[in-house]
Amino acid sequence: MAASAPERMCIVCRARRPQGALLRVSRGSDGPRVDGGRRRAGRGAYVCRTDRCVETAITRQAFRRALGAELTAAAAAELRRLAADAAMTD
Ligand SMILES: [Zn+2]
Repeated sequence: MAASAPERMCIVCRARRPQGALLRVSRGSDGPRVDGGRRRAGRGAYVCRTDRCVETAITRQAFRRALGAELTAAAAAELRRLAADAAMTD
């Protein structure tokens, strides 16, 4: 494990975690999108890869505050799916 693994802060609970424990949403030209592993350029926001933080982010529109744009229904669905996948492998 890398001693210098970068940590990012969840926009919901403000916990600092390694990037692998978080989901990244970045703002592209077509609006906020879930970053699937590869880092995309542009402004990004992180949320814990857990049902609780994902649901809270969606219901409180935390990504709109963080990125200045509304999360699409498709992006919200993908976040929920990724959090559910993580829960099953824990
Ligand atoms: Zn969190």
